Amino acid sequence: MSNATIPRTSYSRLSTWLRCPRKYRLRYLDEAPEECTSAAMLFGVAIHEACELFLAGLKDQSPSSLDAMLAAFGRAFMDGAELAESTGTPVDWGTASRDEWLEKGAGLLAAFQAGVDRGIRVLGTEVPFSLELVPGRIVDGVMDLVLDEGNGRVRVVDLKTAASTYGPDRLDYDLQPTIYMAAARRLYGQDGQVDFEYWLLLKTRTPQFRVLPVVRDSRDFAELIETMAEVDQACLRGVFPRLRGFACKGCEYARRCAGQEART
Ligand code: SF4
Repeated sequence: MSNATIPRTSYSRLSTWLRCPRKYRLRYLDEAPEECTSAAMLFGVAIHEACELFLAGLKDQSPSSLDAMLAAFGRAFMDGAELAESTGTPVDWGTASRDEWLEKGAGLLAAFQAGVDRGIRVLGTEVPFSLELVPGRIVDGVMDLVLDEGNGRVRVVDLKTAASTYGPDRLDYDLQPTIYMAAARRLYGQDGQVDFEYWLLLKTRTPQFRVLPVVRDSRDFAELIETMAEVDQACLRGVFPRLRGFACKGCEYARRCAGQEART
């Protein structure tokens, strides 16, 4: 089978199905237009852009100043909001105003600047991969940051913004580290010599920057393969139940999802 004909997936696709199969169908199969844009999503993208600016600069021994990061963040956030409004997907600001989001971002970036280890050796930022990680299945993704730890070891970092820190469930079972560590082994040829960390920017009253290391082993990889196969089977059989719960609040497909519910 050539690469062009091998089915593809990604962490985003898998995690979307696992969180709500109906949302997976609406987003990836029906390609339904989103009904709104979450301010938290715009915020995460803008913070990401500012941190990436800093880390790419660090790679060239010239990390960006906090002012440059704030400017990049503000620009990305406002551009994202404008684009959303102009394309008919109004921003859902949630309980905070636009200015409060901007203020929150400034606090988080200051916490990041104060807490980040400037002695890291950056191998790459925004490193894309597209690999046949399991037979018959290409997995696509982008690693936020890859660090050289010396002695042939690399560390993959995924930068996140979140309202609260990750608990043991996410640290122990989330599929992203499993996928990204497997990809890094392929890309960097470091069989068994890959670490993974979440760098978490916490939108708490006092903004915090936390580093959360994650461990995965061959059993986790075996579980990933099984999960991919099961999600494939469910999709082939048209199994896309709604997973009603907290995530429905602010879901980009809430009206469409409810409309389908009314008709069935
Ligand atoms: S509204 Fe809830 S059940 Fe429906 S697609 Fe969104 S998250 Fe899933």
